[in-house]
Amino acid sequence: MGKRRIAILGSTGSIGTQALDVIRQHRDLFDVELLTANNNAELLVRQAIEFDANAVVICNENKYDEVNSALLPHDVKVFAGMDAVCDLVGGSNIDMVLTALVGFSGLRPTVEAIKAGKPVALANKETLVAAGALVTALAREHRVPILPVDSEHSAIFQCLQGAGNNAVSRIHLTASGGPFRTWEKSAIAAARASDALKHPNWSMGAKVTVDSATMMNKGLEVIEAKWLFDIAPDDINVVVHPESVVHSMVEFEDGSVLAQLASPDMREPIQYALAYPERLSLNNRKLDFASLGSLSFFAPDPDRFPCLGLAFDAIRSGGNMPCVMNAANEVAVDAFLRDRIGFYDIPAIVRDTMAVSDSTSATTLGGFLEINAEAKARASEILASYSN
Ligand code: MG
Repeated sequence: MGKRRIAILGSTGSIGTQALDVIRQHRDLFDVELLTANNNAELLVRQAIEFDANAVVICNENKYDEVNSALLPHDVKVFAGMDAVCDLVGGSNIDMVLTALVGFSGLRPTVEAIKAGKPVALANKETLVAAGALVTALAREHRVPILPVDSEHSAIFQCLQGAGNNAVSRIHLTASGGPFRTWEKSAIAAARASDALKHPNWSMGAKVTVDSATMMNKGLEVIEAKWLFDIAPDDINVVVHPESVVHSMVEFEDGSVLAQLASPDMREPIQYALAYPERLSLNNRKLDFASLGSLSFFAPDPDRFPCLGLAFDAIRSGGNMPCVMNAANEVAVDAFLRDRIGFYDIPAIVRDTMAVSDSTSATTLGGFLEINAEAKARASEILASYSN
């Protein structure tokens, strides 16, 4: 493949650093043009120097001077603030944009990248959850591919390469079950943020790790799959698979199922998106089936993990309800990470916020920004009645 010039939005987070590790192993195939970070100035500076980035953006404007002075001896342009990210993603020096920002904040720069005709490697699932109709319509209009980085969606995407023109009848979305998979409900109810942050298989950021513990992550992924693959939520079957080796499966009308397997390591789906349609060598752990012995599968438990059901409710309601659900979840997870609320207050706050919201849909970016802000305000009011 020809050399690809990459922008990484969220380069200091879990996905961003793993993407740079993939690039580190294939420096001849990628040029790092743009790196952006929210707060981690020190790591952003180190990355910019190591990868000889053309430009960086530190979103926290208070850290601009720190980044700028550290990069003064180097040939790196330095900017600050989210507006700069949105301006720079469309640059003619960029071939592909990896969006690895956390939460709803990824929506605006993703939309700007699509409008500029840049293929998007999408690691920010909240973008599709909150505004899937808008984002996918824009991608069609600008003929821009959205390449999934989420491991399950990468698996589905990889399986679909073997589908030909055959219709998919079902998707089997696998879930690790998270750190509380085997816990009693009473123990889960008493769990703190430090318990939820111990994920058994995957190394991820704090927000997605808590989402994994509540299984809201799987709910967000159901909605993400609906938009990426144009499949009805009722045709998406969530199955708990604790080993995280089968990353998801696609079923056809004849009952045949294609699955994608690999060791749980985000660098695999990252390289598939960055190099698509090629596959690159990777220094990850290869599967050893004899030592794995067996793989297990279970139905999810809706009683201990109510967030999954809330996500199905939201996507069936349609319109802006997934955006409302996502906003309420971001507020609740943030409060849980600060030890302000209990574990089951997360689904309670999401449910209460959805109950007082209607599902009429926004059609513009501005509309979704407004719905998100309103839902966050409503969720914050509801949160006050649950706070410790
Ligand atoms: Mg995932």
